[in-house]
Amino acid sequence: MLSLVPHLHGLVGSAASRNLAQLRELGVEPADRSVRIAVVVEPSPTPGRWLLATSLVDMLLRLDPLVREVVLDAPGMDEENLRTDLAARLPLTVGDAAGPVDYTIGIGTRVTSADLVVDAAGWVVAIGEPATAADDGNPIGPLAGAALATGEAFKWAFGTLYPEQAALLEMTPWRGAFSFFSYNVDGASPPLPNVRIATTLIGAGGVGAGVIRTIAALGSQVSGTLTLVDGDVLTTDNLNRVSYATLAGATAGTAKVVEAETFLRQRCPKLAVSGFKETFDTYKARTPRRADRIYDVVVTGLDDDQIRWEVQRDLPRVLIDGATGKDMVARVERVEFGRYGCLGCSRRAAPIATDVPAACDAPPDPRAPSLSFLSSFPGILAAGEVMKEASGHGSLRGRFDHVFRYGPNPDLVGMPAMRSDCQVGCGRPAKLDQYRQKYPGETLP
Ligand SMILES: [Zn+2]
Repeated sequence: MLSLVPHLHGLVGSAASRNLAQLRELGVEPADRSVRIAVVVEPSPTPGRWLLATSLVDMLLRLDPLVREVVLDAPGMDEENLRTDLAARLPLTVGDAAGPVDYTIGIGTRVTSADLVVDAAGWVVAIGEPATAADDGNPIGPLAGAALATGEAFKWAFGTLYPEQAALLEMTPWRGAFSFFSYNVDGASPPLPNVRIATTLIGAGGVGAGVIRTIAALGSQVSGTLTLVDGDVLTTDNLNRVSYATLAGATAGTAKVVEAETFLRQRCPKLAVSGFKETFDTYKARTPRRADRIYDVVVTGLDDDQIRWEVQRDLPRVLIDGATGKDMVARVERVEFGRYGCLGCSRRAAPIATDVPAACDAPPDPRAPSLSFLSSFPGILAAGEVMKEASGHGSLRGRFDHVFRYGPNPDLVGMPAMRSDCQVGCGRPAKLDQYRQKYPGETLP
């Protein structure tokens, strides 16, 4: 039994805390109220269940100050290893004595007394029932399961600490099994493909961290190339969601791509990782002519639609976007250019409010969530799409939305239409010709 007490809030301070900002966006004035949560792991768990458990603990600790303590009960665990790994990324006190807890999450089907029982294997996450898929080393079920379970714990904690507001927000507990291969309740979980990638990740913030953690979890099962593009440096207030960052790197202001590169190289010996500490505009100018800029798969984890459109205009063969929005919404979207609506069609310019003063430097949606599980979830699913791309089947056509206040829902899959007012001009013959010339193997309608 390990007691883990995070000190993230003390390090960041109230003014810079994204967790407190998120609570305010949910309509409460954060009070000095917190919960203690236990994670109980069944004996000798499968590797997938252990990945689920450790990722869950990581995401829960990043909810400090809402979560004051996490107690980990995992018979036979490698305590020293876990302690070292967590302490490198989060300020925390580790102790043996654990007090009573308010909520218990069980991992695996053999834990019988828990408030929430979570299971995951292959592409499947199950809450309140067993995951019937085989554990074949696929990290998507376990990592998505950690995000969903943290979301369930957040809903419970919010409802316990701020009951009036939780009732208004209709924070509904979710139970069920969901496949992130089919985005359906059919239990689909084909075997993990040989993951050979040629992927460019634009943006290594909260969403990008989900992509990076997932690719890293593939270990020696992933090969090929991964290019990282992000001009930012780490700050301590990133730590509630940028889960690959070290505490030392965040304190020293290390470039995000430098930290991400180190993290991936330590875990993926067959993957060639190269980081560019620059904006996408600067990065793309390394190849002067747009026609020469060939990208197989680009993943965007950005908080700015203008840059999303700029990436889309550069015509990657396939573009996968991970995004968060207000009201605890996350989206993963995969664009096959010219076959259906692109990011210029699906992410349309917000109407300009004329009665408010212009705030040009404000984020596009100040209510977009920045909680650990919310930010990383679309990144985890985007990495899942990269893995499907490598196997050549099963990929998402269009988008999948997830509203954390409820639960995963197959009705939230949709293919955007091509719009005449598209910001990218994806229906224009000249644009389609440029795409055909770049990727002669692709057949367009
Ligand atoms: Zn379009």
